[in-house]
Amino acid sequence: MPPLSQPQIPIIGLVGGVGSGKTSLTRWLGQRLRVAVVDADAAGHAALLEPEVRRALRARFGPEIFDPEGQVIRSRLAVRVFGATPRHREARQMLEAIVHPVIRRRLEEAIANYRQRGEYDLILLDAAVMLEAGWNNLCDVLVFVDAPLEQRQARVQAMRCWTTEELEHREASQWPLDDKRTAADFVVDNSGELEAAGRQLLEFLQHRFPHLADRLAATVPARTPASPVLP
Ligand code: ATP
Repeated sequence: MPPLSQPQIPIIGLVGGVGSGKTSLTRWLGQRLRVAVVDADAAGHAALLEPEVRRALRARFGPEIFDPEGQVIRSRLAVRVFGATPRHREARQMLEAIVHPVIRRRLEEAIANYRQRGEYDLILLDAAVMLEAGWNNLCDVLVFVDAPLEQRQARVQAMRCWTTEELEHREASQWPLDDKRTAADFVVDNSGELEAAGRQLLEFLQHRFPHLADRLAATVPARTPASPVLP
């Protein structure tokens, strides 16, 4: 445990549309501060491996979403739950009721683990459905990463083979971006250079958590970010 005189390591929640630059900003920050990353996506994948979760999913979604080894075929599950129809919505609610409590438990464990180690300046919680799942109450501040849709589409298509339709389907299953932006404590504009967005974020964090400014002043730049511990 860090000495009592040290401030508690802040937890920063990052939200934003698909391809808005959350991962890139996390990396950017990790080159300047000792950043521990808690990745809700990884926690979600790990949750699907838990026998109890698999049992509940089989009961709800049937054997067709499992491979012969009994592992969940995530693409099959995605087709059932990502979309804007009432049927998709109902299936998504079922899935969330099964997996969200398990993911939350894993996130809490990962946060407690990082805090106990006392080796980090901050913890970044990266969760696509942060607000939808209520995990924002695990965070000290919530940051929205902003970039226009066309730009996000172009950036994402350069790295994944998602169609525009797939991207829109995924976002249709989440809160509207305007609501996420409103819920955030700070908005980073990532429509320009990543460096400019990183600077905005860093300035906000230093203002909000003055011990980070001390830490930055004392740090040699260009660290490698901490590899995420699987929550
Ligand atoms: P997702 O929510 O889908 O995981 P994300 O918000 O984590 O996405 P990134 O993976 O960081 O987004 O960025 C998407 C793509 O856009 C990446 O290829 C990244 O290199 C690129 N990118 C991010 N920010 C910028 C920027 N300011 N300028 C140019 N390219 C960028």
